[in-house]
Amino acid sequence: RPFVFTIGEMLVEIMRPEVDVPLRRTGAFVGPYPSGAPAIFIDAIAKLGIGAGIVGCVGDDDFGLCVRERLSSDGVDVSQVRVCKDKTTAVAFVNYFASGDREFLFHVADAAAGQIRADQLKREWLHAETVLHLNGSSIAINEAVRQICYEAARLVKECGGTITLDPNVRPELFTRGEMERLYGPLLSYCDYVIPSRGEAEWMTSSETLDDAAAQLFELGVKAVVCKRGADGCVLYTPDFRLESSAFDVQVVDPTGAGDCFSAGLVYGLLRKWEWPTILTFANAMGALATCKQGPMEGTLSLSEVVEFIKKHGVELA
Ligand code: ATP
Repeated sequence: RPFVFTIGEMLVEIMRPEVDVPLRRTGAFVGPYPSGAPAIFIDAIAKLGIGAGIVGCVGDDDFGLCVRERLSSDGVDVSQVRVCKDKTTAVAFVNYFASGDREFLFHVADAAAGQIRADQLKREWLHAETVLHLNGSSIAINEAVRQICYEAARLVKECGGTITLDPNVRPELFTRGEMERLYGPLLSYCDYVIPSRGEAEWMTSSETLDDAAAQLFELGVKAVVCKRGADGCVLYTPDFRLESSAFDVQVVDPTGAGDCFSAGLVYGLLRKWEWPTILTFANAMGALATCKQGPMEGTLSLSEVVEFIKKHGVELA
């Protein structure tokens, strides 16, 4: 049976209920909302009805419980989430501006997320039908977590499984040279790369997405799917290029759209759909994620996603 797992940060988000209240100002906050790119992704996978697990670490506190309980109740196997006594669960504070911009304040650097250990990789999770989805944010946590991600990718490939990567490039944290060093060991294991605008170019020091995709294909990547927000997405394979337009939605909160998009893509790959269908489904997952306040609140069941696609008059072949 297909099984999808991920490794990385589980955190809570605390947000301003009103727009345009900078974080430095005294004012109301709402939350906690379960969050963390890997956590959002895996929650979306579980809600689609696929076997799902996460390797993570939270503090022995209510914020840790908040994320663990949500994932668990949505069907994610949280047996490999360690509870660390001497660190706290990571927190992100966010303010939305009326312009659509977001302002984040992360308390992640010394949080429990950095305490993931190699012995948390469960052998039963590693088989030919396994998909390991990795996030740039996970390889950015610290050296130890990075090495666990590389090792997990190696083990999954050794079993004949599949690796997907959302680069989630963090230029504010690392120089270009450092990033090349971080992504380098991973790229040769990757089957599918799912960058946001500009990330593929950035990772490969390329001027254009065409050139970036060509470089990734040389490393063995099978396809590059670039997320383009309200413009949908564009697929590059060694043989063809395909654009797919976004669904028309009223955006409430864009956080998590990329992670839900990736979950839709992985779902379509597991169902062995044709590319146009996969891209439509992934676009629908991304669009739906933007319609709810809170990073993980926009994950939906398979029937809800299919219903949404039908309602928009799009054929899911
Ligand atoms: P984040 O890091 O905030 O999760 P991202 O940069 O990884 O975002 P986006 O390109 O913003 O990812 O969004 C991912 C996908 O979600 C898009 O490719 C698209 O399918 C869908 N999406 C995002 N924003 C919109 C929007 N405004 N309208 C319709 N669909 C959207």
